[in-house]
Amino acid sequence: MRQFTYLRPSTSKAAIDALSKDPNAQFIAGGTNLIDLMKKGVMAPEKLVDINNLPLKEIKKQTGNLHIGALALNSDVSENKLVTQYHPLLSLALKAGASAQLRNMATVGGNMLQRTRCFYFYEPSLPCNKREPGSGCGALEGVNRMHAIFGWSDKCIAVHPSDMAIAMVALDASVLVYGPKGNRRIPFQDFHRLPGDTPEKDNSLEKGELVMGVEIPDGPFTKNVHYLKVRDRASYAFALVSVAAALNISGKTIKDARLAMGGVAHKPWRLLDAEKALIGKPATEETFKQAADIAMRGAKGFKYNSFKIPMGKNAILDALKTAAAKV
Ligand SMILES: Cc1cc2nc3c(=O)[nH]c(=O)nc-3n(C[C@H](O)[C@H](O)[C@H](O)COP(=O)(O)OP(=O)(O)OC[C@H]3O[C@@H](n4cnc5c(N)ncnc54)[C@H](O)[C@@H]3O)c2cc1C
Repeated sequence: MRQFTYLRPSTSKAAIDALSKDPNAQFIAGGTNLIDLMKKGVMAPEKLVDINNLPLKEIKKQTGNLHIGALALNSDVSENKLVTQYHPLLSLALKAGASAQLRNMATVGGNMLQRTRCFYFYEPSLPCNKREPGSGCGALEGVNRMHAIFGWSDKCIAVHPSDMAIAMVALDASVLVYGPKGNRRIPFQDFHRLPGDTPEKDNSLEKGELVMGVEIPDGPFTKNVHYLKVRDRASYAFALVSVAAALNISGKTIKDARLAMGGVAHKPWRLLDAEKALIGKPATEETFKQAADIAMRGAKGFKYNSFKIPMGKNAILDALKTAAAKV
């Protein structure tokens, strides 16, 4: 058994101090991902800094945005009245994730920081540049059915597994961070990274930085939204592909649009060109088909996952039609 020390500080400052001093320390929130990784020998922190005593659970409306604390539970956020009123897309994405039991433990901060579900990352006897830099990527020539079709590198083709994060990126959220150098705000779009030559780094957090919460700016996407998740089972399964779609329709014209995909890249994949193709157009199947074609340009699959390209197009079309049909 591997030994580790356990601390439960009651201030954010004490939490980041405890983490910064130790190169092999980790924060723990709901523990639904980290404990699994420790049991499997994928991660072996020598110190766990439990952040559950910190006052980071609040969900509150502020001028111009909605603030959600990093320790707010996935279940609480998905049911919260402010979330369903102002950002129903987020509620739908959260409810598509994991299971009710897991959502009762999982936190907003932990969800965005969960590690990839790549089979090679989870199995320490197999090569994985993300788990052990320089060991190779087993998935490139191996079992790559779940893997990336956008933004991958020859070092890593893993995907980011969160559903919540796909809605967050579509809604232009920001991540509020506190660390040894003070506070900073990271646009959600820049929070997760592409793998490049350093796939071991999932995100742009620096050592010792604590996610305090997220802020989602007010927007017009309160009705015509949909989160479509295509997966092997109806529950308790990660996305093969998922689509977060949000439309602001006035009369029959699309005034504004947001589109992002999950299950296709190392980070939540925002589809800006496809959004531009929707804005100003009539909300018709033809417009949605064009946007779906644009969205999937540049996608490149591997031996077992090229099916994600036509599936992605169909999922975008379906998600946009469903969003547009909501009255
Ligand atoms: C069987 C199963 C099925 C699942 N299916 C899905 C699914 O379909 N969709 C989906 O989106 N997710 C799914 N999940 C993943 C689940 O959503 C995550 O495990 C959960 O959201 C992680 O949150 P947590 O609070 O438990 O994180 P933890 O396990 O406590 O932490 C995860 C990571 O985040 C870090 N961390 C946590 N909070 C902070 C913070 N505030 N600041 C800095 N670092 C922090 C920790 O150090 C750790 O590295 C599934 C999980 C399981 C076990």
